[in-house]
Amino acid sequence: MSTIKKKAVDVLVIGDGIAGCMAALAARKRGADVMIIEKSQPNVPHGNTAFSGGALRRVSREYPATKYFADIMKVSQGQADAELTRITIRNSRRAKADLSRLGIRWTSPNANPGRADSVVGRGATLAPALRKAVKKAKIPILYETKLTDISLSNGSLENVKVQKKTGTQIIPCKALVISTGGFQANRKLVTQYIGKGAHRLVLRGDKKSTGDGHRIAAKLGARLIGMEGYHGGIIHYGYKKYPRVGEVKGMRSVKKYEPGILVNRQGKRFVDEGEDTADKTYAKFGRIIALTQPGGIAYLIFDSKANDRVDPMYDGPEKGPIEAMTIEDLAKKLSIASSRLRSTVDAFNRAVDDGTNAKLTPPKSNFAQRIDRPPFYAYVVTGGMTFTFGGIKINSKAEVMSKTTSVISGLYAAGEVTGGFFYNNYPAGSSLTRCAVFGEIAGKNAADFARRKA
Ligand SMILES: Cc1cc2nc3c(=O)[nH]c(=O)nc-3n(C[C@H](O)[C@H](O)[C@H](O)COP(=O)(O)OP(=O)(O)OC[C@H]3O[C@@H](n4cnc5c(N)ncnc54)[C@H](O)[C@@H]3O)c2cc1C
Repeated sequence: MSTIKKKAVDVLVIGDGIAGCMAALAARKRGADVMIIEKSQPNVPHGNTAFSGGALRRVSREYPATKYFADIMKVSQGQADAELTRITIRNSRRAKADLSRLGIRWTSPNANPGRADSVVGRGATLAPALRKAVKKAKIPILYETKLTDISLSNGSLENVKVQKKTGTQIIPCKALVISTGGFQANRKLVTQYIGKGAHRLVLRGDKKSTGDGHRIAAKLGARLIGMEGYHGGIIHYGYKKYPRVGEVKGMRSVKKYEPGILVNRQGKRFVDEGEDTADKTYAKFGRIIALTQPGGIAYLIFDSKANDRVDPMYDGPEKGPIEAMTIEDLAKKLSIASSRLRSTVDAFNRAVDDGTNAKLTPPKSNFAQRIDRPPFYAYVVTGGMTFTFGGIKINSKAEVMSKTTSVISGLYAAGEVTGGFFYNNYPAGSSLTRCAVFGEIAGKNAADFARRKA
């Protein structure tokens, strides 16, 4: 087996997504000799970073750290790792500034004032901008080079084995950053950890998010945590019918729906649409629709008063809402029994009038308003699989923790491949933040480790 480099690389980074690029740049800044390997081809969109909406949740005057922390703890039902969450939040503003220095530009927040900024051009510009910065820092990226194994000697990192078109090769390295993304595209792992039905959700991002880093690290004794959780956002049904629409730019979530109601094929409501603002509910509603409702679909129903506050965020065919002048005609167009939809809407409107909307079954805790002004509208929606929440347990230095809670010397991990950040649900925009923040932490600490090993 040949060796790619005779001299050990100080820091080898696996994957050129946001976590990997930020790690490589941070390690280089510390004076380390750095290399990235990436299994995809260079000129095709790859990594979830390229498919992302580009929203980055960060602290601001309107959105203080205490609120950010409370939001993560609320949606994770208190399970998120408090230390990793605090570090993410504390560094969120700096992460945005660091990305801005790389030439990334931001749209001002509109739907979620104060909570998230979005990259102009979304992931489709974010990913190339990061790679451009890596190239400018003279860090080589070896494409079509896939990590297949990691070797330790006396509990310490020795080298990695990679698969190239030409065969298997060895890369000796002093420190390693695993930033290989999630396992959402690996049907076997999804079935094993999440359950049989989860593969029915539409994959919204990279088909190569196959959990390689999870598998290889676990084989070395790394601890995997929270493996059952995932982001199952609501998406426009058009993405299921015409998946090519999202193939290059990513499939967008439906994130504006508060004034509407969600009904299933039987015309019944099944979820508290007003439990919280959409940025804190969309990531779990898609999962509920796809896995628990007949046919895996639902209809988002609203009236003309709510038209400007509902947005399916969809660019493909059958873009506009289904429209009718009466609820009965809308029901016919959706193939729902008219009497069923009528009675759901009537019961809902009565509850709004009485102020008992929070007592409905299921409740509509917030944003309840009568659905009574024609035209009436509906979007067909389903669930998408955005990314898995579970992964390698890391500590505050991004060191990989073993099953016996000691660190695996020389091994660091960052981004979607790590667990502990999100459980059950996720506040929009916080994954890119933790990827950027912990990418930098992993890169810095890996460089320091390599220097000590020299
Ligand atoms: C449609 C969509 C929209 C999203 N929108 C947002 C958003 O607006 N805000 C937000 O915060 N989050 C969003 N996310 C989630 C966010 O994009 C990801 O969590 C984040 O980009 C993950 O970055 P990463 O660097 O960890 O992984 P990735 O960007 O997935 O990069 C991992 C890289 O590792 C490579 N790799 C994998 N295995 C190997 C191997 N064995 N050898 C070599 N290379 C390998 C992969 O090819 C890939 O390029 C969205 C996700 C999707 C799918």
